[in-house]
Amino acid sequence: MTRSGGKGRKVVFLDRDGALVADKPGFYLLHPDKLHLYRNTPKALKLLRDAGYTLVIVTNQSGIGRGWITHEVLGRIHAKLRGLLKRHGVTIDAIYYCPHAPEQRCRCRKPMTVLPRRAVREMGLSLEGAAIIGDKRADVDMGRRLGITSIHLGTGHGKSQRAKYGRALKPSHSTSNILTAARWLIKHGGAA
Ligand SMILES: [Mg+2]
Repeated sequence: MTRSGGKGRKVVFLDRDGALVADKPGFYLLHPDKLHLYRNTPKALKLLRDAGYTLVIVTNQSGIGRGWITHEVLGRIHAKLRGLLKRHGVTIDAIYYCPHAPEQRCRCRKPMTVLPRRAVREMGLSLEGAAIIGDKRADVDMGRRLGITSIHLGTGHGKSQRAKYGRALKPSHSTSNILTAARWLIKHGGAA
């Protein structure tokens, strides 16, 4: 999975659905044609890249475990995602996904930390100064378990998660979307 990441570069773990790609309660992305980037995703990722961050998507894709989608279709969805971003001059360094349904009781589903730790090991990264940006409590909780900065978004399921968990959510920072998250992270660094 090693791409252009490397020692000395900070990593930002990015949730996919509801953070970079449009999502809403009741929707499940099962086909490349249904993938839509949020309008400010390319700009946000470009800012993070220019600030020296390695970009690693960490995403729960339980649709595979549930039999709704295959690894092959997920691969096509990710090819489309990379293609759309490439048009804006943005490259994602790696995508790590958990293919299991919650009831399979795997060890890689967010908020567990197997996938980001695997990325760090395989890509020669460090958790120093790292951050996670996502719209669900699982993203924030994963960040806490890793001891890194967590940024919770109001896009996707963000607002309903805030209503559901309230103060129990406790991210390092709460903001409206991926662009305001990127700007905050660049300004405040990765100090958890
Ligand atoms: Mg999400």
